[in-house]
Amino acid sequence: MRPALLDPLFAPLTTLPGIGPKMVRPFGRLLGRENPRVIDLLFHMPSGLIDRRARPTIFEAEPETDVTLEVRVDGHSAPPPGRRAPHRTFVSDASGDLTVVHFNIERARIERLLPVGETRWLCGRVTLYDGMRQMTHPDRILDAAGLAKLPPVEPKYPLTEGLAGGHVRRAMEAALARVPELPEAIPPELLERGDWPSFREALKRIHQPETPVDGLPTGRAWERLAFDELYAHQVTLALVRQTQVKAGGRPTRGDGRLAAAILKALPFRLTSAQEEALAAIRADLAADTRMLRLLQGDVGSGKTVVALLAAAAAIEAGRQAALMAPTEILARQHLETIAPLAAAAGIEVAVLTGREKGRTRAGILEGLASGRIGLVVGTHALIQDDVAFADLALAIVDEQHRFGVEQRLTFSRKGAAVDMLLMTATPIPRTLVLTLFGDMDSSELREKPPGRKPVDTRSVSLERLDEVVGALGRQLRDGAQAYWICPLVEESDTSDLAAATERAAHLKKVFGEKAVELVHGRMSGADKDAAMARFASGEARILVATTVVEVGVNVPNATLMVIEHAERFGLAQLHQLRGRVGRGEKASTCLLLFRGPLSETSKARLAILRESEDGFRIAEEDLRLRGEGDVLGTKQSGLPGFKVARMEVHGALVSQARDAAARLVPGNPDLEGPEGERVRTLLYVQERDAAVRLLSAG
Ligand code: ADP
Ligand code: MG
Repeated sequence: MRPALLDPLFAPLTTLPGIGPKMVRPFGRLLGRENPRVIDLLFHMPSGLIDRRARPTIFEAEPETDVTLEVRVDGHSAPPPGRRAPHRTFVSDASGDLTVVHFNIERARIERLLPVGETRWLCGRVTLYDGMRQMTHPDRILDAAGLAKLPPVEPKYPLTEGLAGGHVRRAMEAALARVPELPEAIPPELLERGDWPSFREALKRIHQPETPVDGLPTGRAWERLAFDELYAHQVTLALVRQTQVKAGGRPTRGDGRLAAAILKALPFRLTSAQEEALAAIRADLAADTRMLRLLQGDVGSGKTVVALLAAAAAIEAGRQAALMAPTEILARQHLETIAPLAAAAGIEVAVLTGREKGRTRAGILEGLASGRIGLVVGTHALIQDDVAFADLALAIVDEQHRFGVEQRLTFSRKGAAVDMLLMTATPIPRTLVLTLFGDMDSSELREKPPGRKPVDTRSVSLERLDEVVGALGRQLRDGAQAYWICPLVEESDTSDLAAATERAAHLKKVFGEKAVELVHGRMSGADKDAAMARFASGEARILVATTVVEVGVNVPNATLMVIEHAERFGLAQLHQLRGRVGRGEKASTCLLLFRGPLSETSKARLAILRESEDGFRIAEEDLRLRGEGDVLGTKQSGLPGFKVARMEVHGALVSQARDAAARLVPGNPDLEGPEGERVRTLLYVQERDAAVRLLSAG
């Protein structure tokens, strides 16, 4: 049970003064949670800072950055009545002059704000205009009393529609007042070495910084919270590993008989990358330790076949294998690939998803319990309580990042000393494998099966949308199908994001009602599946979607991928999406629609995508570019789960966290005593409840 001390953190945001029910939606959108809680807000980190302490002179003020200038007001130049020219105010300090520009402002008002001969403080951005320094519409014009009331350093936050910086800052102030002083979970020597503040103090420094460095990822406060997150993660990994080691392993040694039959039925030869991965998996299975291996490979790199051959080894040994995918569609697609091959080898395969009910389901459960079914492919339905295996040897998880630690654990408990194979189509740079998974072995399918046609990738300005729709029309006439990806679901007045709903309506007008299907994240699973199925069967020709198609649906006839607002996606995500095409005989195209002007980093990112189809290289470049200061959240890069830690900044803390966890867990496997208690509290704060449950489960 979560300690009562933490209750204020996990209370709904609406328990804060000033946050009414109307604010739930915008805050929910901002924080990525339907019913946001106080803790979600506290972990909403600033994207930058406004520093009012450094007071450059007019001459020193860096153009295009937020500054606060102390100036003397020299005079005004109002436009002649009736003209739409701006009002100009001339100000200066010892270093130079600046023109303050206001459009549509009453003369009397501006002369009151900036009285000639007086000293005033201007907050805003200096720009150079024809070699002259000017500030257009300062954020604030203050006198000495006003300046004294303003915090010297103020965080800026990522915002969303319906929320202004002021809303977030006020809510944050109320949230900070609720933060309890927590028992210190970080070992004292680390705390000292890092010179880190307490949890409570760290949050306060980040959200109400007194110096600029307080609010930055490189500051001690942020570092401390990043360490909390990384430490909780590493302790969780250590606990999971310990549970598995405790359970020991069982050697599973196949004789190669079924694998040979499958290979004979395959219309192709394995690539050497596949051969290598398979050899490593077979060796793991045969060893008397438990396997925990990551199989990484781009979409289409041939992971499914490797998974099947691994399963064959388990079945040859008289045991069973199971493959769990995150969606019904994916599970059925795996089955389609697997079923004919398994049949050729005489392996009995079943599928188990939410759709199998009643007698069908009972039959499958009986087959699994008796051992008749050698391989089962399914969804979460596989880990329900009443699913029991005669002797499960190998659990395979596809798109592993879509499952929580707890689900993977439940899966691994469906047998004695189950070996785990985790598959992912989002390649993770080696340096991050350690961070995310701890000590896990990894196999990479870098080499693509032969005969793959490269996807012709181009970036196109959104201004040329009509041409794109024209090109789409030509493709459809040739019998092809297309994906059209949009980043958000609903068009709003203030946001210029292309909305999937509006785009679908537009395309329906052009190509007909039945030609277009729409899928987005707010649809029910069944509706989504039905829409995708109509596209997969060819009934619909265009699938307009938010990023839900990211998972590995396979429609070989789809040869065109259009991604709107490509500049808003992470590189890895774009690469994943592109992997939906280029799966059939015909040449494929990927159009990255962007809204200009693009920043240098955005240009570089799109260029990498045009140049390369190697997911590993793309992931590495993505990490490098982010390290060079593009502030993209981990969410966008497709890496799961870290709210505070930034790999490009806090990478060095990972090994410290890992070492600390390695010192703690073996000596105190059940997290008992005062230190154990403190770490448990940390695990709850970091929402690693699953890890705590491991303890009580023993
Ligand atoms: P992944 O699961 O990694 O996305 P799949 O296993 O679904 O990829 O493989 C994609 C396609 O490539 C499938 O149609 C599969 O039959 C085919 N394939 C797999 N391995 C090879 C190979 N060595 N040579 C040719 N085609 C292959
Ligand atoms: Mg796959």
